[in-house]
Amino acid sequence: MPDTIQRFLFEHAPVRGEIVHLDATWRAVRVRHEYPPPVTALLGEMMAAAALLTATLKFGGTLIMQIQGRGPVKLLVVECTSDHHMRATAKWSQLPAESGLAALVGDGKFAITLEPGQGRPGYQGVVALEGATIAEALEQYMLRSEQIETRLWLATDDDCAAGLLLQRLPDSHGVDVDAWQPANLLADSLKPQELIKCGAPELLRRLYTAEDIRLFKPRPVEFRCTCSRERVTSMLLMLGRNEVESIVAERGEVEVSCEFCNQRYTFDAAEAAAIFALQAASAAGATRH
Ligand SMILES: [Zn+2]
Repeated sequence: MPDTIQRFLFEHAPVRGEIVHLDATWRAVRVRHEYPPPVTALLGEMMAAAALLTATLKFGGTLIMQIQGRGPVKLLVVECTSDHHMRATAKWSQLPAESGLAALVGDGKFAITLEPGQGRPGYQGVVALEGATIAEALEQYMLRSEQIETRLWLATDDDCAAGLLLQRLPDSHGVDVDAWQPANLLADSLKPQELIKCGAPELLRRLYTAEDIRLFKPRPVEFRCTCSRERVTSMLLMLGRNEVESIVAERGEVEVSCEFCNQRYTFDAAEAAAIFALQAASAAGATRH
């Protein structure tokens, strides 16, 4: 199935939704890091959730969804741009025998950051992590932080991360204001494999035969990492000359691996020195000017 996100609208009820399927995008994340299976499951669900949430927002830039915990899994991060370019990563120490959000993450925080880019100010919402699943955690976040009733159904396997989102619109958006509960109950009957295997038109046919639904055009989603040698260079500049020189003295070079895509960037002694020489030269230039 192609990687897509697709919006739909109940024509006569204040309910809207999104359906996402991530195949190649999901596999691109999995081949770059070997995650333990319980972490993989959480990360896949979180990718589907981040894509769904991004699709409901009107903004240009990057949405960053983060779960920070005190359990064996310290950090789960998924980024999705408004053009639906995605990347994801996780950090963990040792894993417990059980899986699931509570066992893996423990006490934690759920944060969503919107970065508009181009130096414009961002926005961050943080709530305590609540709920037994990624879907419940995001539902709680939306209710607490945005006061929007949202429900999510997420499913992953080795090849696919998929999800369905329903959002309750203000009553003025439709005559059938009682449609929210029945729409949720029908979606609750969905099996994970149906969510993974069925495209959006088929899924909506199965769930809402009696409803008049408007399905919008699918939009593509793809894996793309924003790391670059330039960004690593700025990071080394921030780290400072002394620190970088001591790493070079110890190891002969500086190596930085992107935590999202695993791309390695290496700087030998001459290249590392050149970064700081260039910085010194441009600072001297700026002073003369
Ligand atoms: Zn990268």
